[in-house]
Order: sequence, then structure tokens, then C-alpha cells
Amino acid sequence: MKHIINAVEKRKKQIIALAKNIVEIPTVNPPGMNYERCVEFLELSCKKAGLKTRRYYVPKPELKKLGIEAGFARVNLVASWDTGAKKTLHINGHYDVVPATGNWQTDPFKPRIKDGKLFGRGSEDMKANIACMISAVDVLQGLKICPAVNVELSFTPDEETGGQTGLAYLLKKKLIKADYAIGEGYEDDYAAIGNKGMLWLEVGVYGTSAHASTPYRGENAFEHMLEISRAVSGLESVLNRRRTRCVTRDKRDAYSTLVVGGKIAGGNKTNIVPDYASFSIDRRLIPEETVAEARRELEGIIRAKSAKNRNVRVKIRTTTAEEPVISKRDDHFLDVFSKALSSVLAKKLKTAIMPGGTDLRFFIRQGVPCLGYSVKGGQRAHADNEFVYCKSIIDTTKIFALVINGLNRVKQAR
Ligand SMILES: [Zn+2]
Repeated sequence: MKHIINAVEKRKKQIIALAKNIVEIPTVNPPGMNYERCVEFLELSCKKAGLKTRRYYVPKPELKKLGIEAGFARVNLVASWDTGAKKTLHINGHYDVVPATGNWQTDPFKPRIKDGKLFGRGSEDMKANIACMISAVDVLQGLKICPAVNVELSFTPDEETGGQTGLAYLLKKKLIKADYAIGEGYEDDYAAIGNKGMLWLEVGVYGTSAHASTPYRGENAFEHMLEISRAVSGLESVLNRRRTRCVTRDKRDAYSTLVVGGKIAGGNKTNIVPDYASFSIDRRLIPEETVAEARRELEGIIRAKSAKNRNVRVKIRTTTAEEPVISKRDDHFLDVFSKALSSVLAKKLKTAIMPGGTDLRFFIRQGVPCLGYSVKGGQRAHADNEFVYCKSIIDTTKIFALVINGLNRVKQAR
């Protein structure tokens, strides 16, 4: 173990430089810019690390089906190291980043290092991880170590917009394999083993328009929407007591949640009685709940409220529905990962479910034992002045290298 840790330590400069180079490519999504340029760069880095690479473009008809505008290529990169082993460890990283909005003190795509932190859009979410993935392999190859597991890395687009053309696509087309998987997740001494479910509804309320000088001729959809949304909000006190038995890192994440009105629409003139108003519902499900139950519960409240007035019609549309997921447990995988983590960080590994989902859920659904682990940053993903700790880039590289090296090794006879 020590020689691997030392070898990573010796390559420190190159690893940080690699992370910077990746952050420099503005793979902003939406709309999905510079994907090919990024993949080209990653391909080169993977080849230098001794990996075989394959590119997978999502065909245009497929993009159309998913409602993605043509113009920007959606390309996945898979890099593999076939060691002749029976099992494969897959590590995934998405290379797209959200737009750089807010108040940046530095150019978000000109990565800067200050006080041991690497600043740049996508540094934390999750380009530093990509540098760790490639560097871990690079170091093991340099040491002429042959792992007892095949290694497959994937670099995928569009996580920030649902992941359907990225990791989900690779899995659907059976282009990758995994007996164990590592992807985006928690950091430091926590690894993610699943995430909450999600149900998004759009509730459209229809009334009757009229001249505002004679409101008695109309039926105000906005006023009815307020009543209905207030009734939905009433569910919050129930959800606040619905607690999962799973471990969460933050105690507040142990409960079912509800956000009403993230998106509202309707009404377009002051002197018209509005005949339409709509509001959104974002409902997060603990693993003990299902999408069907959550939908029934919400629909019951909405229908009960709207049934009171015959002149009002309500339409409920589901815009997103994802069941909660928890990874299959694999004791060997957990054991190897926790030993790697404690030999690098001198901490004990803890596992927890996350409130929000990552691409890892696609692997979890297929029954692959998964751990979500990321480079530690300032928890400023999607915010301005996003950064990661340089030390954590090096530590995470060490952990990945130790996990690759440790998996499926036959125990030495004493
Ligand atoms: Zn991410």
C-alpha cells in the first residue's frame, strides 16, 4: 500500500495540472458545449495512462426522442484496462458542468489555485474526480502493478440535465460492464450508497376569463390555485414526521420533503380575470416510500380541494418520477474501500443515502454494488466560486488506486 501512496505523492503536480486542464474546457450544459473537445483531451490522457479507449456518440434519432436539440454532439468516452480478471470495477465521472452564473471572483474557466484550493466551474462537480480516475490508473501502470480486477472508466455528458444521453445510454445499450461501481457522491469519510426518490408534478388550474370590471362573470384560476397549493403545503407537517431508517449524513435529510411553487405560471394582464394558473410540486421520497403512493397522496389532496367548485378544472401532469434507490451491499467491496480510505485519511468510512440523485442511480437500479465518492470541495457545486481542495484530489487518487489494487486479491497465506 505504501508504495502506491508514495507514487501518487510523487505525481502530485501532474495530477493537479490534469484537473486544471479539464476544468479549463467549458463543457457548459445546457446547452452541451465543447463535449468533443473535452473527450478528445480525456482520450489522450487515458491513452497516456495505458488505457484503451472507445467513443460512443448518441445517434441523432435517439437525441430527438429525448427532446435534445441537434447541433451539439453527445459523446461518451469509455476507457478500459483489461487485466484478464473475471470481474470489473467501473468508475464513472460526468464531464458536463452547469453554467457559471453568480459572482465569480476569478474566471470560472481559467482555474486558479489559491490557499490549497482549486477554483473553477466544475472543479467540485465533478472534474477533479475525473483527474483522480485517470491518475489512479496511471500510477498503477507506472508501478507495473497488475490489478486482480479489470478497470473500466467512463466519462459521460449531460448528468446536469438528467443523464439519459450519458451513463443511462451506455447502460441501456450494454456498452459497459460493472461488478462494482464508483461514481459521484459524498466526500471525506462518507460514501453514498443511494438516494431519495423524486416526484415532480405540475398542477394546472383552469377557470373562466372575464373583464376585470365585471369579475362576477369569471372564475379566478389564480385564487383557486392559491387554495389548492395551500392545501398541498399542509402535507408538510405530515412529511416532517415521516423518517427513513436509512443513515443520512445530515439529520435533516432523513425526512420526506415537499417544495411547492418552484415554478409558477399563468395570468397575463392586470384587467383580465385569469382563466389559468399553475404551480409545481417537488416531492422527495425516503426509501420507504414509492412514487405511486406519493402521487396518490398528493392527487387525493388536490382532487378533494378542487371538487368543491364545479367551475374549476384541474389537470395534474407528472414531469419527473424516480423511485428511491439503495445499492446492493457487497461486503468485500465495502471492506476494500474502507481500508483504502482509512489508510489515506486515517478515518473510518461511513455510508449514507443522499437527498439528491446522481448518475450512480442507473448502476444501482441494475443491481451493481455502488459507492458514491467525490473529491472534497467547498460544497459550492452549482454556485459561484466553486472549488476543491488540492489535498483531496491527491487523497482521492490514492483511494481510487488502492481500491483498484485491493479488489479481488486472493488473501496471502500466512
Ligand atoms: Zn455532478
